[in-house]
Formats: sequence, C-alpha cells, structure tokens
Amino acid sequence: MKKDRDASGPHSSSFIPHPSKRLGQNFLTDQRIIQRILEALDPRPDETILEIGPGRGALTAPLLDKAGHLVAIEFDRNLIPFLGEKFSGKKNLKLVQSDALVTDVCDVIRPAKQARVVANLPYNISTAILQRLIEQRHCLSEMVLMLQKEVVERITAPACSSERGYLSVFVEAYCETEKLFDVAPSSFRPAPKVWSSVLRLRLRPQLPAEVRDEKLLWQVVSAGFAQRRKTILNNLRNAPAPLHEIVKSHGGASILLCQAEVDLQRRAETLTLSEWARIVRLLE
Ligand code: SAM
Repeated sequence: MKKDRDASGPHSSSFIPHPSKRLGQNFLTDQRIIQRILEALDPRPDETILEIGPGRGALTAPLLDKAGHLVAIEFDRNLIPFLGEKFSGKKNLKLVQSDALVTDVCDVIRPAKQARVVANLPYNISTAILQRLIEQRHCLSEMVLMLQKEVVERITAPACSSERGYLSVFVEAYCETEKLFDVAPSSFRPAPKVWSSVLRLRLRPQLPAEVRDEKLLWQVVSAGFAQRRKTILNNLRNAPAPLHEIVKSHGGASILLCQAEVDLQRRAETLTLSEWARIVRLLE
C-alpha cells in the first residue's frame, strides 16, 4: 500500500494511505473553508451529527470539539485504524466502517432519533449518496454538504433553467436549499479539477405539493426527463411500463397534459413541482 506521512504535523509518526482516486478522496486542507463549514453547521452539545466520509479527519476534529455526538461513516478500510488512533481519546465519536450508499443511517445514529449531516462528499457518487440520505429523511433534519459546483447548480436549478433535471425536482420536493459558498480546487489535496460549492439542505416536514403516490410522482418525472430534447408529450407517450399503461388508461398523454393544463409542446425542464404534482394527481 502506498503511504503518505500524516498531514497532522511534522512530528507525527503515524502514516496514512495515499489518497484513493476511486474513492473520491480530495482532502480539505484549507482551514478557512473548514471553519466556514463548521460555522454554517454550528454543531450543538445536545445533538448528534452524522459525517459521511471523514477521510483524514479535517472536519471530524473540530466537529468533535463542538458536537455532543458524532457518527462518522467511512468506506475506506485503510483509513479506519488511522482515524481510530487519531481520535482515540474522543468518547463522543462513533466510527463506522461502511458504504454510505447502503447504510441505514437512522440505525447508525441510535440512540439518537434525529441527526444533522455534514460531508465533503466523494464526487463520483455524491448525487447517489444525496438521494440515499433524502430517502432516509425521517431521521435527518438538515445537511451541510460540499459537492461539485456544477452539481449544486443542477440541484438548485429552478423551472425553465436548462440545468433543471430529475435531481432538481427530487431535491426541491424534499428540501429547502441554500447555496452557501464556492470552494476553489486549491483548498484540497490532491486538488480536484473543478470548483466545489457548499449547500445547505433543510429537510421539509412534508412535500410542498399535494401528491399521495410519491412513487408515481418519481416515475412520471423520470419519464418526463427521459429524452431532454423531446417535449413532455413525446416523453410521456414513450413512458416505460407500467406508467405507459396508467397514462393510456387515463386517455393518453395528450389528454392527461391538457387536463393538467400543461402545454403539450413544453419540455420537462420548464415544469414546476406543482405542475408535476397536477399531472400525477390525475393519475392517482
Ligand atoms: N471529509 C474529508 C475531508 O473533507 O477532507 C474527506 C472528504 S473526501 C472528498 C470523501 C471521503 O468519502 C473519503 O474519505 C472517502 O474514502 C469517503 N468515501 C468514499 N466513498 C464512500 C462511501 N461509499 N461511503 C462512505 N464514505 C465514502
């Protein structure tokens, strides 16, 4: 295994694994950015914070000083002994070696019933982890996440923006978002090729649009965005089964859109969440 000298100080004797590109390991080294993320989160002594991907502990160390409890999920087995040693005296840390994509976060934060999340997410799977966290929203109240700047632009894209896609509608349905600040590649080691942004997401207590069948909502949105250059009419006409059958049983895509008062020639990126909900309500 390739190893680096611990970045924690010139006198440190511990050695840590070389950053893994596959695991999206771009470690934060800029103390001002670490401080800004901490200030944005403002951890309290009476709460549990969940950190995804502690890496070499750049955020973990100051989090441990402020949060009542910290649960940190790290996938890289090679980092676990290093983190265990580095934070050996910290009673408020629970270090979990696991894949955040398949972890039941509501289970790992126990005995806490709710937690807030902080992470500098691995770029290659950042949106998959974000979706997975949102799916487990019943035990999460807020997230302060660093993602690629371009991904944050997609997530926060309003209706009619060319950046808007399935992820924008999905996140809007479950979270209030606030872009906090951008982060230059020079703030990490190794430096990534692109800029990052820090995003605050507050989990909504309920959907801001009236929909009973959320599964159906995501089938419709997914079908609507299937071919971005096509109209919503064409995409719904070509929806995969079983949605195709459901649309057909309601008179077909054209009648459905007309009844929902959505112009047949519009593209999915122009629809607001309440317009998606209007279409779905007709199918429920
Ligand atoms: N938090 C550290 C920092 O800011 O310096 C490290 C951030 S680094 C961008 C992403 C971290 O996520 C790495 O430590 C990586 O090993 C970890 N990671 C990658 N895939 C993961 C997964 N599926 N589940 C949990 N952690 C993962």
